[in-house]
Amino acid sequence: MTTLIPHWIDGKAHPGSDESRTGDVTNPATGRVTGRVAFAGPEEIEAAVASARKAGLDWAQRSVSARTQVVFRFRELLNSRKEELAAIITAEHGKVRSDALGEVSRGQEVVEFACGIPHLLKGGNSPQVSTGVDVKSIRQPLGVVGIISPFNFPAMVPMWFFPIAIAAGNAVVLKPSEKDPSASIWMAELWREAGLPDGVFTVLQGDKVAVDGLLDHPDVAAISFVGSTPIAEYVYERASRTGKRVQALGGAKNHMVVLPDADLDLAADAAVSAGYGSAGERCMAISVVVAVGDIGDRLVEKIAERTGTLEIGDGAQAQPDFEADMGPLVTRTHRDKVASYVEGGEAEGATLVVDGRAVDAKGEADGFWLGPTLFDHVTPSMSVYTDEIFGPVLSVVRADTYQEALDLVNANRYGNGTAIFTGNGGAARAFEHDVQVGMVGVNVPIPVPMAYYSFGGWKASLFGDTHAHGTEGVHFFTRGKVVTTRWPDPGTAGGLELAFPKNH
Ligand code: NAD
Repeated sequence: MTTLIPHWIDGKAHPGSDESRTGDVTNPATGRVTGRVAFAGPEEIEAAVASARKAGLDWAQRSVSARTQVVFRFRELLNSRKEELAAIITAEHGKVRSDALGEVSRGQEVVEFACGIPHLLKGGNSPQVSTGVDVKSIRQPLGVVGIISPFNFPAMVPMWFFPIAIAAGNAVVLKPSEKDPSASIWMAELWREAGLPDGVFTVLQGDKVAVDGLLDHPDVAAISFVGSTPIAEYVYERASRTGKRVQALGGAKNHMVVLPDADLDLAADAAVSAGYGSAGERCMAISVVVAVGDIGDRLVEKIAERTGTLEIGDGAQAQPDFEADMGPLVTRTHRDKVASYVEGGEAEGATLVVDGRAVDAKGEADGFWLGPTLFDHVTPSMSVYTDEIFGPVLSVVRADTYQEALDLVNANRYGNGTAIFTGNGGAARAFEHDVQVGMVGVNVPIPVPMAYYSFGGWKASLFGDTHAHGTEGVHFFTRGKVVTTRWPDPGTAGGLELAFPKNH
């Protein structure tokens, strides 16, 4: 018997109406099926959006202070019980405990940012723009907003959006990844405990049917999507056609440029941490190291040495004195696909320096294991370079000059994150100015901004123009209104004036 992972509609678990439409959920470290997730059909989609719409109308009328109190309580509960959520993430995603806790903490920071919503929703006010006339701006919630999230951050990515959306007075329908759906139900229960009215936070589990249902629904006002580029583009086009506001964050191929004057030990540590952390299943993972000048051989040697020190294993088996550095990949299919890129890289002529296919993992034999893999002498035409692999495969490309490295990054179709490692402030400054990427690190390999800055890529890494969280997030989940007012004393104003109004 496996447990059914339900929807969450109108403040309670809902098993779904069609028992034949479910998906298997596996523990990647054991390979065993641990649950079945319900897949929404038209009935659940209607029920979810109708409940959210009704609840949202009431929620938007609550005072900002009353809404903020609920968000504060959610933050307190999350902070005190984050280990539970981290364990759920490890069991379905496979990332190790410290990594799962890091994900929860990063999400929590957005909850904390949303606790400041009274300040964030303040509008402008210009008295006496014309004689006796004042103008002010206000921001109001949109109504029902949909969030569609990927497998790799089952708690943090939804939390990039829903704390701000809810604090601003919207109702949220979350469609999590079907690969690790339990975190969303845990968070729904936490919202109930925090006192959020039923229907303001809804979880619709499922596949393309649930996604399309939200994209097409006339009562859904906005969509925040995070996932692969082809689906991000599809979501953006389809949801825009029905007049929705859309932000669709896509895939990545993040380059780390290492200049000859860089501290090579620092750079090698960073490449290994950012390349293999979370088994490379991060949109901000470093997948390409660009070694500039004559440092290539030394840098590759240092990276290879470090891969040999990594422990690969089941994150759920953490002991006080031992934790694996890297867990398994999310599914067997994905592990096999990533392994096929290793074969492809060899066949295309890249030098395989470290082969992760022969990994000795501390975990069950049927886990979806693949160890750190390192390619050298990769060229831009090889599939290991052109494709987002989303696994523990790091490619080293050699470049003769800074300009050649910069051109390589800028020619890439993705523009999510990038980093430069150098001891030269002038070179770093030029890079941060000239590189066509949304998030840039200087001697920092994963430049994920804080909750109060906004997160998002350029080019094929983002469809739409609004990044996640920070002030752009507040802007996305609210609509502006400008109000022009006068209160003339009786008898002091009036008369016809058909010309376009001038200020005086
Ligand atoms: P995915 O695109 O396969 O799935 C994302 C969501 O879309 C899931 O909820 C899934 O159920 C749904 N979906 C999948 N196929 C669909 C279809 N044909 N029609 C409608 N909906 C569909 O992505 P994933 O494999 O879950 O996540 C990994 C991807 O997410 C990587 O490409 C990664 O770079 C990207 N990602 C990007 C960011 C970012 O900030 N840019 C952050 C995290 C992950």
